[in-house]
Amino acid sequence: MPYVITQPCIDVKDGACMDVCPVDCIATAPDAPMYYIDPDRCIDCNACRHVCPVDAIFSLWELPPDQLEFERINADFFKR
Ligand code: SF4
Repeated sequence: MPYVITQPCIDVKDGACMDVCPVDCIATAPDAPMYYIDPDRCIDCNACRHVCPVDAIFSLWELPPDQLEFERINADFFKR
């Protein structure tokens, strides 16, 4: 069950999550508004969640109902 980055990351892009991910599965791009987690590589370690300053990261099974679209948004980034 991968982790998902949600709306609060938009325009914040703190990046602390990227520094702690043990498998380097968090990415962004200069023209992207937020960071994204690759669902095929995330090992569900929970490390990123603890360092996010805006509480934008959730495991997939606990995504808030109004953030469900971010499962697709995270995955789609890695299909670019
Ligand atoms: Fe990386 Fe762990 Fe966060 Fe998955 S849960 S994105 S493996 S830090």
